[in-house]
Amino acid sequence: MASHIPPEFDQPTFRLAVAQFDQAVAHLALDPNLLERLKLPQRALAVSIPVRMDDGRVEVFRGYRVQHDLSRGPTKGGIRYHPDVTLGEVSALAMLMTWKTALAGLPFGGAKGGVAVNPNLLSSGELERLTRRYIAEIFPLLGPDKDIPAPDVGTNAQTMAWVMDTYSQQVGFAVRDVVTGKPLSIGGSLGREEATGRGVVDVTREVLRHFDHSMDDTTVVIQGFGNVGSHAARILHEEGAKIIAISDRFGGLYNPNGLNIPAIIAERTREKSPLPSLTQLGEPIFPDDLLTLPCRVLIPAALSGQITQTNAPKIQCQFLIEGANGPTTLEADAILHDRNILVVPDIIANAGGVIVSYFEWAQDAQRFSWEEAHIHSRLQTIITQAFSRALQHAESKKLPMRTAALIAGIEEVARAHQCRGLYP
Ligand code: GLU
Repeated sequence: MASHIPPEFDQPTFRLAVAQFDQAVAHLALDPNLLERLKLPQRALAVSIPVRMDDGRVEVFRGYRVQHDLSRGPTKGGIRYHPDVTLGEVSALAMLMTWKTALAGLPFGGAKGGVAVNPNLLSSGELERLTRRYIAEIFPLLGPDKDIPAPDVGTNAQTMAWVMDTYSQQVGFAVRDVVTGKPLSIGGSLGREEATGRGVVDVTREVLRHFDHSMDDTTVVIQGFGNVGSHAARILHEEGAKIIAISDRFGGLYNPNGLNIPAIIAERTREKSPLPSLTQLGEPIFPDDLLTLPCRVLIPAALSGQITQTNAPKIQCQFLIEGANGPTTLEADAILHDRNILVVPDIIANAGGVIVSYFEWAQDAQRFSWEEAHIHSRLQTIITQAFSRALQHAESKKLPMRTAALIAGIEEVARAHQCRGLYP
């Protein structure tokens, strides 16, 4: 039965997260009292953020920080800057973080933050003032033992440096472990920036191995060339896969013989040119056509709601690996399952980011830093274990992998609630 959704959360990504949750718990005999508690966030804060713009005006932005579940430890999750950010979207993404961290065995609950803003339209000074005031407004929720933000869509290491500084200014000393995804010079971790993309590759490698394919005979299409898509493309290319199409928010670039990913990355670093303008390196392709190209691996690594009931019947990949959060709608999921396309869900495939965030937080707390090779191998071990556990469960119970992964994550959280009991 579909859940009732309170109007303040009602939004497509929230409806999707709750529908996925409902599908998973249908296979579990959970206490109904607990089910209700897990659907809605434990805490949600909405703030107004006045920012002095470069022209002297004061513009007011809407921001949120949502902590979905505090039963297993401090909460963890990124901060998103995007015009479509709403309380409902942030709450859905916080819920996904709860299952993601539980599945990977990290001692965190899920959180997410966001500001409804197009960061591409703000100057660096405006972005800094926006970030500092947003963090000052949500300050009571934050802390190394309370809630630890990280980058997400539209934010990066510089944003996290402002977060760290603003928090530290309030308490009067430098607090490194209050935020992850920071620059190295203030307690960032080696390997964090590429971690989500690297985790996507670790999962892809496992999928290929399980189905007796190799990187060398694999074609890949990637939607999104931001932090996740560009690192995934680079590492897959290094490992011998053929990336035949990629896209950014301006459009796509296609080469059936394989794109020269290092040349594209070098060009973008130098010029910041939109991908479809790099015609010396590939042919421009419409984003809709990119998703339906024949390939072995399709990686949506942009925003949510990209794989829908309209394009799912036309998708021609064998494996769909979700680099983004919530890229596949419920209807599309059912179509892909019927068509025997294996979907590796976001809560496994993109967990590399939060796994290495956990390493960063642990290093900062220990006042000790780990070597990069150690970080890569620990990441690979944790993400591969989460993947194998969900795959085994999916195959033995004949369930979609998303349902199997959610079951494992939800069970973990339910156990924590059960043994802590209900306060008061
Ligand atoms: N924003 C990333 C995610 O969605 C990383 C979160 C984190 O490192 O806390 O998983």
